[in-house]
Amino acid sequence: MNNLDKLISQFEKFPGVGARQAKRFAFHVLTMNEADSKELSRLVGELKGSVVECSSCHRYFSTVTNEAMCSICTSSTRNHQKLLVVAQDSDIQAIERAGVYDGLYFVFGGTLPLLNAKDNNKLRGSALKATVEKRLEEGLSEVTLGFAVNPDGENTARFVESIIGETLKEKGVSVTYLGRGLSTGSELEYADAETIKNAFQNRQTQ
Ligand SMILES: [Zn+2]
Repeated sequence: MNNLDKLISQFEKFPGVGARQAKRFAFHVLTMNEADSKELSRLVGELKGSVVECSSCHRYFSTVTNEAMCSICTSSTRNHQKLLVVAQDSDIQAIERAGVYDGLYFVFGGTLPLLNAKDNNKLRGSALKATVEKRLEEGLSEVTLGFAVNPDGENTARFVESIIGETLKEKGVSVTYLGRGLSTGSELEYADAETIKNAFQNRQTQ
């Protein structure tokens, strides 16, 4: 396999990218000017060392000193009694931009497709359970599930409940749903600040 074919097969591994699109990406790289292609290869090469996964919330963050936890998890001004479970990193970015939430996060690692319920090996079920148990010792008072209002999002929320629901109920910790404050089909990642603000204000317990 030549380098072009190898690059195509790397692009094919990207989420949502098919064979044809992978080819277009690879040919685009071929036509890039030298500065851009050098910058792209530098960024890809250095990314893993400079961006790491937070050991607590599992979001990716930039680091120069190789610390284990991100600035949100270690912040003393955040409310450590609140935990918001989201599907992916980009949901956190949208919520932080809206500036309406002061608690901690947990990145679940994706959603559980309604029609392929066995496809949960990338999801952080056991890590979430461990995080919740640790947070309970530190006074956890509310867990919010922030998944999209669509069948996969609802299915993921049910899956999360099956993992931590009982423990939270025993401890009297309320579970709220951010999705019910969003309109049907909305995804946090693409929601504007006002929509996210409303979602928090209207979050419901069932
Ligand atoms: Zn973190």
